[in-house]
Formats: sequence, structure tokens, C-alpha cells
Amino acid sequence: MTQQAKSQQSGAQRAVAPQSPGDVSVLAEQLATLATLDQRIALLRATVGGRIAFSTSLGLEDQAILHGIAASGADIDVFTLDTGRHFPETLDLIAVSEQRFGLKIRVVAPEAADVERLVARDGINGFRSTIAARVACCEVRKVRPLHRALDGAAAWITGLRRAQSAGRADVPFAETDRAMGLIKLNPIADWTLAILETYVASNDVPVNALHARGFPSIGCQPCTRAIRPGEDIRAGRWWWENEDGKECGLHNNPNRKVARA
Ligand code: SF4
Repeated sequence: MTQQAKSQQSGAQRAVAPQSPGDVSVLAEQLATLATLDQRIALLRATVGGRIAFSTSLGLEDQAILHGIAASGADIDVFTLDTGRHFPETLDLIAVSEQRFGLKIRVVAPEAADVERLVARDGINGFRSTIAARVACCEVRKVRPLHRALDGAAAWITGLRRAQSAGRADVPFAETDRAMGLIKLNPIADWTLAILETYVASNDVPVNALHARGFPSIGCQPCTRAIRPGEDIRAGRWWWENEDGKECGLHNNPNRKVARA
């Protein structure tokens, strides 16, 4: 039986208990007390009923979490969004990671009709013309597929870290994401880049070959460039836009204050 099938079967067997904001706050506090990533993943699996999904971008953070999932043996539905504009190195890492960790990564693609309409309206690289066009592209290629992949899930694991950017400085370990209708779990919210890099190196976690070529944060190929020494680690993402609004819409949560730990 595949991991995904096991996850769906397990999700069906578990009671999907509603999680109050208080429950989520307690979970966030408990996660903060645990030292290791696999302990945190085991705890969230034991605490949250129903399917827990992990959306991996194959970045450094998500590769560490994938290792933690494998180390914990937790039953997690792992998927990635194939936007159709990824670097070949990113796609290669899917197969390498499946083999290394013995896990299946579900590949979720955008609806072909949505992409065709978008390209017909804005052009093949229309995302560079205006912020609205860029947001529309991310909506079609990332946000809608993410919502489809998370449909029916009780919780969603992400690799968000507070140190990644000013906009992520208040990321909690667990929060109620009312817009998505689930619990958002950020098990490495408190990790610095140094902790992350040490974890990856000491556990021989496979990483995107582009990291060694000046790409600390990797998104779609036409929207990511290498950074220069001294630049912020996300400076290479949508570099033609202002720093303030550099999010693709996957992690916008107006309820962020709900469950900070
Ligand atoms: S990162 Fe760029 S190519 Fe990828 S979905 Fe967003 S706008 Fe489109």
C-alpha cells in the first residue's frame, strides 16, 4: 500500500475532532518544548485527528521536514505543487527524495484549462508585467492546486520559519487557518538558518543542487535568481517587486495572532 493510500485510510479511521483555538494554542506550546523535529512531528500526528498534509516545495526547510517525517514514521500525506515552471533541478529532487526516504511525494498540477486561459490573457511570462498579473499566475499555478490538495485535510504542515523574512517574524508553531479551514502546523518555526543547515548536513539530507549556486530560496525558474553576498535570503524571489509583498498567497493568514507559541 502506498503512503498516500495509507494516509487516506488512516484518516478515514481516525475521529476528526474539531480543534478549538485553545486546543491549537496548547499544541503550539507543547511543540515549543520539544527539542527534535521528529518528536514534534510525532506529537502533532498523535494530537491531530484526520489527514495531515505536508506541502513540500523541495526547499531546504521542507527537505529537513521530509527527513523528520521519515524519522518519526508518522503517517503524513506528502505532496508538492508542480507549477509547470520549476527548475529541472527541483523536479530531479522529487525522485531523489522518494528514493532516499522511502516516501511517495504526490505531485499536484494546476488545471490545464486555468493555465491556458491565464497564458492567453497575460502571455507566457505575463507575471513580470504587473504585481496583479504575478499574483494571478501564483493563484492559478499554486494557490488553487494547494486548496485542491488540502481539501478534506485536518491539518497542513509547512516549513515556515520566523527568521525567513520580516513578514514571517510572528509565525507560530500551530495556528487556526480559518481561510483554509484547517490547522496550520509550522514545526520548525523557531529554527535559525544555522540550525537548519546543521540539521541538513548532519543527517545527509538531499538538497536542491541550486543551493550551491547561490539560490538559498527556490521558487519557479523565471521568478527566482541567485542572490549576491550580503543580500537577504529571499532577495532572489520576484526580485523586481518591493520587498514588502513578496508572498505567493500560499501562506497569507489574517488570523496569525490566534495561536502564537
Ligand atoms: S512564482 Fe512566478 S511562474 Fe511561479 S506561479 Fe508565481 S508568478 Fe507564476
